[in-house]
Amino acid sequence: ASARRQRSAWCCYQPGQDEQHFRQLTLIRDLQAAARDSQLWMAYQPKIEASSGKVSQFEALMRWQHPSLGFIPPDEFITLAERSGNIRLLTRWMIDSVCRQLAEWRRAGRIHSVAINLSAEDVIDPQLSEHLLSVLAHYALDVEQLSLEVTESAVMQDPALANRCLSELRQAGLTVAIDDFGTGYSSLAQLKQLPVAALKIDKSFVMSLDTQPDDVVIVRSTIELGHRLGLRVVAEGVETAAIAALLCDFGCDELQGYLIAKPLPGHEVAAWLDQYRADDILPLT
Ligand code: C2E
Ligand code: MG
Ligand code: MG
Ligand code: MG
Repeated sequence: ASARRQRSAWCCYQPGQDEQHFRQLTLIRDLQAAARDSQLWMAYQPKIEASSGKVSQFEALMRWQHPSLGFIPPDEFITLAERSGNIRLLTRWMIDSVCRQLAEWRRAGRIHSVAINLSAEDVIDPQLSEHLLSVLAHYALDVEQLSLEVTESAVMQDPALANRCLSELRQAGLTVAIDDFGTGYSSLAQLKQLPVAALKIDKSFVMSLDTQPDDVVIVRSTIELGHRLGLRVVAEGVETAAIAALLCDFGCDELQGYLIAKPLPGHEVAAWLDQYRADDILPLT
């Protein structure tokens, strides 16, 4: 659809389109400098166990503060990086940044586990697993401290190659979660082949769980499906206590969302953990 739009752009001019194209070209041009000049940083958002309220893991989310355009949302710049052939560069920067952070936390006596997001290009990169494992080894980290989140659509672009890459990493001890579950066009037959440990229910089904009966059906069925396949089920986008209570009631394993915490800069994680109280979030525990 985007190719069609680009081809016909000359004949159906719309106001704002030039600015949009100019912005995209600027961002693509500046991506490489961003990684070099520390305009990028990683934010960390906790996930908690639904049963105990304990923090299980943090998800690493990339942030870009552009020198003149300001904060650029990852949905925008990750897509541009994917389309312009720059995503592997960003992923390498991200892996190093996350591992450096894990090593720093460990020096401070805190052992955390972090999940990173991978793009379609990453999971078909034959060098990815070797690279990831060598960075982990470089910082003397335990492979169990890192896990992966991959969307259905990323895996489905080349299921065979993705399966090879993820299996290598799984064999080395990293676990894989399917991100944004329910929004892609994946076939369950394909997903079943993958070395997956968890499903992450997309936030679009979670955010109005307390008012949309359809979302209740989707979320409950996904939890049941995941459990029957022996997978853990995580809900993202948990914004209210009412929704958290419903998810606990439905047997969801882990929760993540603004109710618990927004994505935090790495240096704020220790202070957040010190003040975190599960009882404020889960009245049931
Ligand atoms: P994702 O991996 O599905 O991450 C979840 C997104 O939901 C994040 O948006 C997070 O900030 C947001 N979120 C979490 N809790 C809530 C909530 O309670 N309410 C609402 N409204 N939103 C919530 P973010 O950080 O803007 O990232 C967007 C997407 O960009 C990610 O979706 C992921 O697909 C991609 N992304 C981010 N960092 C990376 C990265 O390092 N590498 C790759 N390949 N993709 C990344
Ligand atoms: Mg994710
Ligand atoms: Mg997601
Ligand atoms: Mg997403």
